[in-house]
Amino acid sequence: MPHAMEKPADFHHAASLLRFETRAFINGQYVDAISGETFETSNPATGKHLAHVSSGQAPDVDCAVQAARQVFDKASWSGMPPRERKKILLRFAELIEKHSAELALIETLDCGKPIRDSMGVDLPDAIETLRWHAEATDKIYDQISPAPRDVVSMIVREPIGVVGAVIPWNFPLFMAAWKFAPALAGGNSIILKPAEQTSLSLIRLASLASEAGIPDGVFNVVSGMGPTAGRAIGMHAGVDCVSFTGSGEVGRYFLKYAADSNMKRIVLECGGKSPVIVLNDVVDFRHAIEGITTGILFCQGENCSAGSRLLVHESVKDQLLSELKTAFQAWPVGDPLASSTRVGALIEKEHLAKVMSYIKSGKQDGATLAYGGQRLYAESGGYFVEPTIFDNVKNTMKIARDEIFGPVLSVLTFKDTQEAIQIANDTAYGLAASLYTNDLNAAHRVARSLRVGTVSVNCYSEGDFAVPFGGYKESGFGGKDKGLAAHDQYTQSKSIWIQLR
Ligand code: NAP
Ligand code: MG
Repeated sequence: MPHAMEKPADFHHAASLLRFETRAFINGQYVDAISGETFETSNPATGKHLAHVSSGQAPDVDCAVQAARQVFDKASWSGMPPRERKKILLRFAELIEKHSAELALIETLDCGKPIRDSMGVDLPDAIETLRWHAEATDKIYDQISPAPRDVVSMIVREPIGVVGAVIPWNFPLFMAAWKFAPALAGGNSIILKPAEQTSLSLIRLASLASEAGIPDGVFNVVSGMGPTAGRAIGMHAGVDCVSFTGSGEVGRYFLKYAADSNMKRIVLECGGKSPVIVLNDVVDFRHAIEGITTGILFCQGENCSAGSRLLVHESVKDQLLSELKTAFQAWPVGDPLASSTRVGALIEKEHLAKVMSYIKSGKQDGATLAYGGQRLYAESGGYFVEPTIFDNVKNTMKIARDEIFGPVLSVLTFKDTQEAIQIANDTAYGLAASLYTNDLNAAHRVARSLRVGTVSVNCYSEGDFAVPFGGYKESGFGGKDKGLAAHDQYTQSKSIWIQLR
């Protein structure tokens, strides 16, 4: 086991010394893909090759499912006393913390996000997520239903079995932790499929699960392509549940896979086009400006709950927009390994092209480009784009309807609160919304009127680990991540009716 890396003074130097593990982790071992095939992962900030990663396919997924099933049936993890499982999961969290500088560096290299975020957000939040769910392991009670005196009617929670977790590239470790923490706490075995762009951190993490004492076969990582490895997880008859985070398009595939195979449980966390509403009673814009800026620029806007539609009362728009432009200047775009960088590189060339094509469509559709709009540092080989604001956007325009997944903000105006609610809800998505107001009544009323899974008021937030997260409408399906609600994804309830004689 390599020694834990200290927080390096120079991340470039530390990066040059890194050696990546690139094989799948199945049944407690790193293994090549059975086919021997690999695919390439690169650094979005340079466009350069990072590593060749094992390209897992259906036979590799099958090996992982078999290992996961065997250990589940043996009950060495699923049947372990909850308090023991908790201790092991807390040890796992401690090991991740010990190795967090290395994991954060891998994340930034593979994903293009600022090191400031992977060190300051992704890693600490993943660790705290794991701790929170670990702590819940021995605190979740079963139920006894009202029944006649000579009957004991129990409703017991049992682990669902073998869980597939299919992960996106924007928060590889953090999104994975949302899933593996409650799944493991409940006693399940898990097979994680990272996105092909960003497999390295999860592959590295897997050996820490073993080191913590999680039995072989309980925690597996199969890297590979969506249509092969991802599909194989979705179609496998030995998988009991798939928890997916990613696009709606692929989310729908999983519903089909379940229908075409064993009716496995499917939970989907999909995209969003989240509105940010600023009412005209806001006198001090400081919090709004901070929240709006973070909401669209954090993680380069590659964030499912990015606040990408700013709905502002027409009477305060000009002032807000002028302050917003100043705030955007304080988010430097650049080298993700520089500690001052707040906006890193987009994930890949194709995605950069997609974001640029949305910027073009905004101009063509008659919106006013108020800030940014250019590709940056093309000579670096990286996929950087300027934070961008479009003014005079109509909610019918493509830039207001599609999830751009980049640092592109659309500004729309409204005349009264009713109109703001109507525009906010006029979307196929329903993941999140933010609202800025000083009026307590408006805060409650508007929050209740928004058809979304999470509303943050006077801030940009998804709430902490204790708060369930998931979307309404096409943003989610079947369950929630985070909070105790997450445990429901990975457990099933059994009713036991005992007639006393
Ligand atoms: P994606 O293209 O849907 O991919 C997500 C995962 O599905 C990846 O592991 C991918 O593998 C896999 N996949 C792709 N095609 C598949 C197929 N035919 N069968 C089975 N699996 C397949 O999403 P993404 O581009 O990685 O992530 C961006 C999206 O995620 C955005 O829409 C964003 O809003 C959403 N997101 C949602 C949340 C939330 O909590 N609601 C959080 C973060 C992100 P490959 O790597 O091979 O494509
Ligand atoms: Mg990569």
